Amino acid sequence: MKKYVYFFGRGRAEGKAEMKALLGGKGANLAEMTNISLPVPAGFTISTEVCTHYYANKRSYPRSLAGEVKAALKKVELGMKAKFGDPKNPLLVSVRSGARASMPGMMDTILNLGLNDVVAAGLVKRTGNPRFVYDSYRRFVQMYGDVVLGLKPVHKDEIDPFELIIEAKKKQRGVHLDTDLSAEDMVDLVGLFKKAIKEKTGHDFPEDPMAQLWGALSAVFGSWMNDRAIAYRRMYDIPEWWGTAVNVQSMVFGNMGETSGTGVAFTRDAATGANEFYGEYLMNAQGEDVVAGIRTPLPISELAVKNPVIYKQLNKIRLTLEKHYRDMMDIEFTIQDGTLYMLQCRVGKRTAFAAIKIAVDMVGEKLISDKEALQRIEPDQLNQLLRPVFDLKEKEIAVKSGRLLAKGLNAGPGAATGRVVFNAPDAEAWKKKGELVVLTRIETSPEDIKGMDAAEGILTARGGMTSHAALVARQMGKVCVAGCSELEIDYATHTMRVRGKVVREGDWISLDGTTGEVLEGKVATKPSEVLQVLIDKTLDAKDAPVYQQYARIMGWADRYRRLKIRTNADQPDQSLNAVAFGAEGIGLCRTEHMFFGEGKIGPMREMILADTVDPRKAALARLLPLQRKDFEGIFEAMDGRPVTIRTIDPPLHEFVPHEEPAQRQLAKQMGISYEKVHQRVEGLHEFNPMLGFRGCRLGIIFPEITEMQSRAIFEAAANIQARGIKVEPEIMIPLVGNVKELADQAGIVRRVAAEVMKEKGTKFKYLVGTMIEVPRGALTADEIATVAEFFSFGTNDLTQTTLGVSRDDAARFLIPYVEKEIYPKDPFEVLDQVGVGQLMKMAIDKGRGVNPDLKVGICGEHGGEPSSVEFCHRINQNYVSCSPFRVPIARLAAARAALADAPAKGSKKRAGKKAPRRKR
Ligand code: PEP
Ligand code: MG
Repeated sequence: MKKYVYFFGRGRAEGKAEMKALLGGKGANLAEMTNISLPVPAGFTISTEVCTHYYANKRSYPRSLAGEVKAALKKVELGMKAKFGDPKNPLLVSVRSGARASMPGMMDTILNLGLNDVVAAGLVKRTGNPRFVYDSYRRFVQMYGDVVLGLKPVHKDEIDPFELIIEAKKKQRGVHLDTDLSAEDMVDLVGLFKKAIKEKTGHDFPEDPMAQLWGALSAVFGSWMNDRAIAYRRMYDIPEWWGTAVNVQSMVFGNMGETSGTGVAFTRDAATGANEFYGEYLMNAQGEDVVAGIRTPLPISELAVKNPVIYKQLNKIRLTLEKHYRDMMDIEFTIQDGTLYMLQCRVGKRTAFAAIKIAVDMVGEKLISDKEALQRIEPDQLNQLLRPVFDLKEKEIAVKSGRLLAKGLNAGPGAATGRVVFNAPDAEAWKKKGELVVLTRIETSPEDIKGMDAAEGILTARGGMTSHAALVARQMGKVCVAGCSELEIDYATHTMRVRGKVVREGDWISLDGTTGEVLEGKVATKPSEVLQVLIDKTLDAKDAPVYQQYARIMGWADRYRRLKIRTNADQPDQSLNAVAFGAEGIGLCRTEHMFFGEGKIGPMREMILADTVDPRKAALARLLPLQRKDFEGIFEAMDGRPVTIRTIDPPLHEFVPHEEPAQRQLAKQMGISYEKVHQRVEGLHEFNPMLGFRGCRLGIIFPEITEMQSRAIFEAAANIQARGIKVEPEIMIPLVGNVKELADQAGIVRRVAAEVMKEKGTKFKYLVGTMIEVPRGALTADEIATVAEFFSFGTNDLTQTTLGVSRDDAARFLIPYVEKEIYPKDPFEVLDQVGVGQLMKMAIDKGRGVNPDLKVGICGEHGGEPSSVEFCHRINQNYVSCSPFRVPIARLAAARAALADAPAKGSKKRAGKKAPRRKR
């Protein structure tokens, strides 16, 4: 016969911690605590299979259940030396839900079950404490009435009928608090409550404890399907078929007088991770009093002074639990008349800071292995160490006082506070005056780069996760909130309106780039210790405990990961930052970003506006030394690491001025008429530039651009190599969908490489490859791989072209799309593995089918997103490339991916240690 009920008590339990699927988290841990001899009041768990049966069989129970419950109850009575329903020595129980995953407060609970008029009278005799007994009784009748008999208010403006009765009683007695009511008042309340139940339901309150128990069981199993629980399950992906278990456990009372009490605690500080006992308790109270906040609980350290015996016992339990579970635990305890009982334990929730500190400390304490530590830290949690963060208290106050202005996309993590400016030149000018600024734009363009660099944070009204603002901000390590469509920005008046408020130039605002929140006014920020050590070099590693934690995690991650980690960088300083964060190469250098640097935009514009080859070549000749210098800087910074340089990609109209004064100035500079400039700029207009004259199409129509860029790269390579620094350039052709496009461009690149080697009398290694960014590229990857020496997935464009969703205009509808669960996450942030991922996998299979050595990477923004990095590992890519500040996150994600599919493949052996022998 199938077993449905699992007893725990008297130092022995039928369940254990590993049985969470069957007993729920609470039940499994109660069993485990019993088995390791902690003082747990006896009880039993009814398994989740009963819940499944209950719903599969029109809310009825398996036939054998009643017998099992009866038998288990007998054992509980023996364990507690009390009897259910016996007025002389009554056993009271609690009935609580307990699913596999914690669902705090979503399902129902009933306490003090087993009380009726006779039992209550008997208990008064036994305890000599009528106030305690009738307080417990009225609480029970209220809970039972609400939860089991359905008197709980359904609508938010209805009031609990029992609360109305209590309020009337307090008014009548002229008191404010429930605790001021006397024992007689409590007796009255019980009577009034029962009367209300009879009036509302037509039935009497059940006096039979066994009937009470079955009523409570059905209510708790029934609460698995209440609206709250269903909504919570949806939010946290908890499957309905898991069901809940129900725990029936003997009551112990913390409200029996001054030698009783109750508390909750964490075995370490859940906020900071410090290895200190952390929690709160209240004497003469029940758990709900601590939660309700009517009385202020005391810190657990106070218990050490007030009741050293109990504290010592509790602290010993704390150490036992940590040793046993090898994790930080969250516990609930009750002291009944000087005796300590454990009511619950589970793995404690913690902040990102605490998660990291606890994992690192526990490796040091030999509680867990380095591999386990890596699995306990979510890669995104590292942002807390890498980025400036808000003072949490200050931010909370700001939000509570109504200073939350809007919410956009969390495009660049971290916290920034500064004064609003509405254009890039102002950002630069204000910064020069020593001001902190937040650059606020409808959307950004490459021209804004210097202003973006000057700003603490960037805020835009339009654009998605891969919009210009977002990806440039991430590359620079700037805080950014993008696509905040509620902002009405008016450049002319230097103001923005949002939710009825007006923010003017110079006003302070604060951005939380980790959550996408925009706050009015200043909020204090805390700088990152890791950055102070690695990037600013203003702090010594030995004085930086947080940095030390970071360094250990990175060391472990590098030990186990298989994927190489590169970075997207197009400036020497970005490259150096990335190397400091552990980048092993550059996976994407967007050369067009370089054209906005000092002195380059002029000849670039002349090149674009030239209407014949000769003036175009003349302009390119002026650009050549400038680009060469840029590449030399990058090669030098990367010091022998591979550098993937992409030929020019974006539509040409992005480089030319669109306003009349700037066009007039350009005309003057070029010695041609304003009308001509204006006409050429208009001629570059496209209805859909993202799918227009961009990518390799530019180099095919204007081969002299590819030629100039190749020459700049190879001459730089030769020059740097001549200085004894190794170089490894990889030239990458964007937006290829047809092998002939690549063959055309690769032909130019290889010819120029040969010319430069000959001219310089030297040799250098290089590769020519392509980006896979359009579905046709993936579909014909076997053809493309006959020419390409590497593939790099440009998943920003590949997402755009596969989904047919413009990456720049998506924010407006993608946010509601995600809310409607059409896509689980913004596909420009988290790779759409089902669709885009399938194309990637196909491209790798086809590409490696003709070229088994084909190197494959990713350089879209997904290259730094943990679940996407794990996917890249699974489909056997060689590397991922991401913005510099995401490099540590990618390192950790790659290690976790390798550990997840070890030992089949992935994890490297530890240096100097022999692999353990397989057991036979
Ligand atoms: C991409 O499309 O993923 C990519 C890296 O190129 P860009 O973002 O510059 O279009
Ligand atoms: Mg692209």
